[in-house]
Amino acid sequence: MDALHPRTLASDLPPPGGDRARGRCYDAAMPARRASKPAPTPPAWTPAELIEILDKAYGRAPQQASHEPVFELVLTLLSQHTSDLNSGVAMHRLWEAFPSWDAVLAAPLSAVEDAIRPGGLAPTKSKRLHALLGEVRERCPDWDLEFLRDLPLEEAKAWLTSLPGVGPKTAACVLLFSLERPALPVDTHVERVSKRLGFVPSKMPADKAHDALEALLEPEQVYAFHVDLIQHGRRTCHARGPKCDACPLEARCPKVGVG
Ligand code: SF4
Repeated sequence: MDALHPRTLASDLPPPGGDRARGRCYDAAMPARRASKPAPTPPAWTPAELIEILDKAYGRAPQQASHEPVFELVLTLLSQHTSDLNSGVAMHRLWEAFPSWDAVLAAPLSAVEDAIRPGGLAPTKSKRLHALLGEVRERCPDWDLEFLRDLPLEEAKAWLTSLPGVGPKTAACVLLFSLERPALPVDTHVERVSKRLGFVPSKMPADKAHDALEALLEPEQVYAFHVDLIQHGRRTCHARGPKCDACPLEARCPKVGVG
């Protein structure tokens, strides 16, 4: 089968921190309720098994750095709420219209809006783009974000998510695709498939799923897990009408027949 290079986009919120001490007090005060809570069902596959099965089913392109980090940031912003095809056209037009990020910032919003129109939501995205690029230039006038390669991963995430309009998913896209760091972007496909397969609880919000899923993976599994789950979500495990009969995971899927 052909190997795809799916990627994902959008923004979200930073996860709230846990409070272990408070959790212990709460549990001690309510022993009966804790005892009646059903134990979570472990996922049917380990991440390694899942990756092996889906690699065989769909094939997977090897990981390689895509674009420089600012390019990836902008592409990710343009990709929100549209297809990869449309955002690619918008990015191409932006790059043709303006020779540098400084030129994008110097241009009137209406000109940026015209350039990125094929990506949809152009009035909103042009404003977000200006705010994002303005902040990046303020912090890094040479537009060089390579230092993120050497920061501890959590610090790199924190730096990126402190930029306007950048959430955990966008930060993870930059770190994974541009800098080849083990940050997991959780898009709609990754979230849906990992929940159906029991890797995270079905009601867990997407922003929390980033950390929960990443914690299950070895660093060298992150890219494969991301790409494989996207391919599986796009080709087989659709949101509506998943093709369970043709699914390579059917034998042990806790949600076989869902939808
Ligand atoms: S069996 Fe169905 S629900 Fe389970 S992973 Fe496959 S397509 Fe998705």
